[in-house]
Amino acid sequence: MSQNESKEMYLKLGISEKVYSLGEQICKELEDRFKAIDETAEYNQLKVISAMQESKVSEACLLGTTGYGYNDIGRDTLEEVYSGVFHTEDALVRPQITCGTHALALALMSNLRPGDELLSPVGKPYDTLEEVIGIRPSMGSLAEYGITYSQVDLKDGGEFDYEGIRKSINDRTKLVTIQRSKGYQTRPTLSVERIGELISFIKSIKPDLLCMIDNCYGEFVERIEPTDVGADLIVGSLIKNPGGGLAPIGGYLAGRKEMIENAAHRLTSPGLGKEVGASLGILPSFYQGFFMAPIVTASALKSAIFAANLYERSGFSVLPDGKGSRHDIIQAVTFGRADAVEAFCRGIQSAAPVDSFVTPEPWDMPGYDAPVIMAAGAFVSGSSIELSADGPIKPPYSVYFQGGLSWPHGKLGILKSYQSLVDAGIV
Ligand SMILES: *Cc1c(COP(=O)(O)O)cnc(C)c1O
Repeated sequence: MSQNESKEMYLKLGISEKVYSLGEQICKELEDRFKAIDETAEYNQLKVISAMQESKVSEACLLGTTGYGYNDIGRDTLEEVYSGVFHTEDALVRPQITCGTHALALALMSNLRPGDELLSPVGKPYDTLEEVIGIRPSMGSLAEYGITYSQVDLKDGGEFDYEGIRKSINDRTKLVTIQRSKGYQTRPTLSVERIGELISFIKSIKPDLLCMIDNCYGEFVERIEPTDVGADLIVGSLIKNPGGGLAPIGGYLAGRKEMIENAAHRLTSPGLGKEVGASLGILPSFYQGFFMAPIVTASALKSAIFAANLYERSGFSVLPDGKGSRHDIIQAVTFGRADAVEAFCRGIQSAAPVDSFVTPEPWDMPGYDAPVIMAAGAFVSGSSIELSADGPIKPPYSVYFQGGLSWPHGKLGILKSYQSLVDAGIV
């Protein structure tokens, strides 16, 4: 009876009987996997609570400071909580870090000096990093400061090119950047375990090489994080996993004390470092978001797996595939045609709690080299831990789907995307 009531709601929200039944069938088949995800979320939830208790988070921590922000106990304690969860010496968690790209740029610019070389041993980094590094010429890039860059691509099967990496490490190589998530690429996402193997190899060649991980979209997907397997620094965005959907802005760095200090002195000023940076009234959302993050990440994971199975069954190529293990919350579906990418995004948009009535269109986003269509009806603008989809309008016409603050919303969004393809005569 209760399931029938839900069905009525799906029909009312524009899902056909046929699409609804297909969805129910797939949900049934995924019961065991969803149980495993819930178990990981349970573990990670306990990890966060334990760190909050150990750092003695108090009601006073939820208040904010203004002006310089000296002695901001809430800010300082939150950074200790991040260190506790990620098992690092220190952390920098700030609303003054405007986004993930800024957090990564900050980590690089503060820990590299003119003459140093940056190495990516896992192929091309995330699109916006190309301008940070200067792969595509850009104002203020690392290249402008005389910091060079070298890159070793993954092999065709996605394996590390160990020989190539060995050859590319030289006297000037100072920092290695490893992107955990596939981002807008069709390579597999790296598991924490594989990241650990790569770090061990790199340190065996040059022990003092700093290993930084772009951890975007990876937090809380597994029970361990890259800092548990030798990473010196992890970096991410608070409008993705660790913000739990509640943080309205921000980025974090967690890792070795010296690297965090370098970043703090670059973010604020030499001589000031972590001591300044008022938290204003934002800390409750940072704390509560981090508290919610394991459960929210689990919802996003379920949504991604549901999408993979639904689209795989209809003959589209999906990455990861329906059965594949998960190391981030991104699901790629390759349609091979622009109209399908647009229809998919229209469907996701129409399931949103905010702006469900608008039609997404491709546009030239700063930092990207092709028009991108984005579906997002989010409480926090651009938040991609909320149900969202992005598709660069270029071959192979893949759509990257992520988020879902709750699993029922993720499910509705995917069903709506599928319905949109049905309505457009594509499936
Ligand atoms: C999102 C993302 C970034 C950049 O973050 P923004 O907040 O969009 O600037 C960098 N790397 C990866 C892998 C990402 O997913």
